[in-house]
This record gives sequence, structure tokens and C-alpha cells, in this order.
Amino acid sequence: PGLLRVVLGDQCSRALSALRDLDPARDVVLLAEVMGECTYVRHHKQKIVLVLSAMRHFARALAARGVRVEHIRLDEPGNTGTLAGEVARAAARHRPEGIVCTHPGEWRVLADMQGWEAATGLPVEIREDDRFLCDLGWFRRWAQARKQLRMEFFYREMRRATGLLMEDGEPAGGAWNYDAENRKRLDPGTVPPPPLRFPPDAITREVMALVEARFPDHFGTLDAFAWPVTAREAEAALADFVTHRLPRFGDYQDAMAAGEPVLFHALVSTSLNLGLLSPRACCEAAEAAWRAGRAPLNAVEGFIRQILGWREYVRGIYWLKMPDYAGLNALEATRPLPWSWWSGETRMNCVAQVVRQTRDLAYAHHIQRLMVTGNLALLAGIDPAQVHAWYMTVYADAFEWVELPNTHGMALHADGGIMASKPYAASGAYIHRMSDYCRACAYDVKQATGPGACPMNALYWDFIARHERRFATNPRMAMPLQTLRAMEPARLRALREAAATFLAGPEMASAPG
Ligand code: FAD
Ligand code: SF4
Repeated sequence: PGLLRVVLGDQCSRALSALRDLDPARDVVLLAEVMGECTYVRHHKQKIVLVLSAMRHFARALAARGVRVEHIRLDEPGNTGTLAGEVARAAARHRPEGIVCTHPGEWRVLADMQGWEAATGLPVEIREDDRFLCDLGWFRRWAQARKQLRMEFFYREMRRATGLLMEDGEPAGGAWNYDAENRKRLDPGTVPPPPLRFPPDAITREVMALVEARFPDHFGTLDAFAWPVTAREAEAALADFVTHRLPRFGDYQDAMAAGEPVLFHALVSTSLNLGLLSPRACCEAAEAAWRAGRAPLNAVEGFIRQILGWREYVRGIYWLKMPDYAGLNALEATRPLPWSWWSGETRMNCVAQVVRQTRDLAYAHHIQRLMVTGNLALLAGIDPAQVHAWYMTVYADAFEWVELPNTHGMALHADGGIMASKPYAASGAYIHRMSDYCRACAYDVKQATGPGACPMNALYWDFIARHERRFATNPRMAMPLQTLRAMEPARLRALREAAATFLAGPEMASAPG
């Protein structure tokens, strides 16, 4: 007997640590599609199709290389529906010497994995997930040496450690960060190039039928499914981005436009998170485009910062702070999630655009997640646990290690500032500046009170006033607090009444009305 090597759905990588030193003559690779993983969160239909299809393609590719693969299908008779159950069954069948796996992306799964040894009576080796650019031990030491954790400083260390965009020990171009150049609104004449799509092949179509049959009432539609499901497709998607969208990625990184869900974004998060693409390959492709004069530095640095900086940083925070991080609620937010986040039926055009696109594509870009839904949840004081569950449910790239810190840390400030030094709170003016949503909205972004006023405005001041005491010690909140304190009491009262009326109204109802 050899080893049982367990590969999870988001571990479809040839270079996976659990597959290293594999002996094709003796070892068996187990990939198990289990009901528990499909339903512990009621994932978007596209997410389930994506993961199962990627697993099936990966299993086939391994088998084609002569590896003994045991692929347990979701609808196979005898499937126990849990990872632990399938590992135990495979262990009983193959009687391996031991089990090898790679550190999972989720706390819940790690806890489960740690029980496999007792359950099977076999030694279980959990190897580091070295598909990431920063190992967790390094992050922990970096974090322990600091009073405050800030992404920008972490990112600089990562630039130094990897040599990405470095020249003679200095940042390329002389600065670490070109964000100030990356806040343009989409000019009316600019038409973003359509991203490469990957129409479902026979394997994906079979999974789509399974998902429609087994998860008919999960959120979202499958009609527009076009995600890469193999490493080769993911590489083609990356190349398409680098050639056609990367050059203007920086300029329009924060822009939003009605009917333009992708703009100049990369659409690589699903492939990165499943392991179809490596973060280093993404960064190197972008850097090469800059060195060849095919993309400007502000775009390339901005893109690399998202992957080398933010993506690695949020993973570090997750493993540093879990399991407590999931329960944090520093702003004591308790409001239930509005029904309109499922139905898309709201007069707020910004929210309607984002929710409908999310339903159809299982995708929204970062500013839509952060500054439309995230911002509304922050201002309205929606319960972080419910917001977390929503983001986990609706996006094809949702995996807890990356979703949770973004939701609790970045969008909701529920971690009290572990991740970000101030809440990303904004009024309608921000959305108006960065998008064309307000033009076609039933509400008037220039008004803060009165029947047709943009709700984001009153909610913003209500939020600042509600947390005035807490924010008083935060120098980065000094400006809004100063404005708040200079406000006529009658004006503030009117704003807070407008916010209360909106919050009690149909737009924020938690059930269909
Ligand atoms: P691009 O804008 O083209 O960026 C390139 C890559 O950089 C992304 O693919 C991603 O891998 C990485 N990246 C960018 N921003 C972040 C970030 N803040 N944190 C981590 N990585 C980042 N990303 C996920 O992968 N899964 C999630 O579940 C997820 N949930 C989020 C929830 C909220 C509330 C917010 C505000 C952000 C969330 N993000 C999540 C981060 C980000 O929105 C997505 O990674 C990005 O929109 C994916 O689209 P893209 O590939 O076109 O990204
Ligand atoms: Fe959103 Fe207000 Fe603009 Fe309408 S007016 S799109 S609610 S920000």
C-alpha cells in the first residue's frame, strides 16, 4: 500500500504540496464531491458548477498522466456526503500507509482534517499550502512584531522578498504605490473590451444539469456560465486580460458603469482560488507586460498589489485571527439583511445593478462589493454574520479565507480596525463620482432629505453620528466628525429622521413584501 493523497475542490493544482513525491505505482489520489461542501453555505449555482467541473477536469488530467485517481461523484451511490466520510471510506478500501493532504483554505475544514487521524487510525500529514507567496509562519512573525497591521507595509516587504517590480532594491518607478492615478471615472467614449469567455464543454454541461436538479433553489442563474475550468483556460484568460485590459486596469480600477460588469478587471479570482492559476504567474505576466512597454506602471503596480499585497494579507489575517474573527461585531450592527439583496428589486439603482449582475454572473468587481453593497451594509448597520453569509453565497470566487476578512475587516469594520485604519464609509457623492448609476436612479443623489433623496446620504450622516464617540479617537475620521459637529442641530435631526424612515421602509425589509 502507498499513500492516500486527498485533494480538495479548491486544490486543483498540479504543483499542490499533497501531490509532491507522488508514486503513481502505489499512491491513490482522492477527489470527493460531497453534499456537505455544496450546502453548508447555499452557494450560487455557478460556484458549485465551477468547483465540481474543475475537480472533474483535474481528475481527468491526473488520470491521463497515469495517476491512480479515485473520483467520487456527488450523485454516486454510497457517497456519505462529507469529506471525513469519504476519506474514511477510501482508507478502508485502499488500506494506505497514511494520508497526505494540503492545508485547507477554511478553518472549519482544518478542524475536520485534524480529526481524520483518529477516525481512520492512519497518520495524517497536513502539508503547507505553498501555492501562496507568503507562508503563514512568516506572516505570524511579521504580525507579532507590530502593534498595528497595515497592508501597505506588508506589501512592501513582499515586494522586497519576491523582487517583483523592484530595481536595485528600490521600487520600480521610485514609488511603492500609484493609487492616486487609479481613480478615474469611465469616460463616456471608453468601451471596455469584452473578456474571453469559456463556453461550457460536455463535462461542465453535465455538472450544470446536476446542479439544476440538485440545487434548484440556490441563488443565481447558470445561463451565462463562462468561467475557466482548467489550468489551460485560466492561462488563456490571464493572457487575454494582460493584452486587452491590463493597460487601463489602473485608470479604471475604482470605476463602475451600468451594464459593464467587468470593465478592465482581470476575472482571475476564481482561477486563483481554485488553484488553476498561480499568484506568481499572474504577477510575473503583468510585470513582463510593463517591462515590454505594453502596460503602464500604475496599472501593473495596482494589479500586483491586489494579488501580492491584498490577497496574501487577508489570508494572513484570516489564519492569524480565526476562529474569533468570524464572530466580531465591533460596531454592534444587528439589522437583518434586506430581501432586495436576493431579489434585486430596489429603487436604488446602484444596489439593483450590483445584485442583478451578481445573480447572473456570480461576479461583481471590488468597488461594487466594497462601495455599493458593503457600504450600504456598513451605513445601515446590517449584522456582519448575515452579510458574511451573503458574500459567501453569491460569488463564484467566495472562499472563507478571502471573503471573511474582506467583509468583516474591509467592508464592515466589524473587526474594529484590525485590517483597515478607518471604515470605508461613503455617501451617494462617492457613487456618483465613480459611476453612472445615479443618472438612472429613482433617487436624487444631490438630495439628502425629502421623499426622493438618495438614501446613502442620510444613512452616511446617521452612521457618523451613531458612532461619533467611537470614531473620536481615530485621526482618520477627524474630517467627517468636524463636519458633523459644525452641522445645525435641526439639519442633523432631519438627516437622522430621513435615515430612520428609510431603514424602516420597504427597501430594507428583510422578507419579500
Ligand atoms: P481584479 O480587480 O482584477 O484583481 C485581481 C486579483 O487581485 C483578484 O482576482 C484577487 O485575486 C486579488 N484581489 C483584489 N482585491 C482583493 C482583496 N481585497 N482581497 C483579496 N484579493 C484581492 N475576493 C475573492 O477572491 N473571494 C471572495 O470571496 C471575495 N469577497 C469579497 C468580499 C468583499 C465584501 C469585498 C469588498 C471584496 C471581496 N473580494 C473577494 C476581493 C475582490 O473583490 C475580488 O477578489 C475581485 O473582485 C475579483 O475579481 P477580479 O479577479 O476581476 O479582480
Ligand atoms: Fe445609489 Fe443614491 Fe446614486 Fe441612487 S442616487 S444610484 S441610491 S448612490
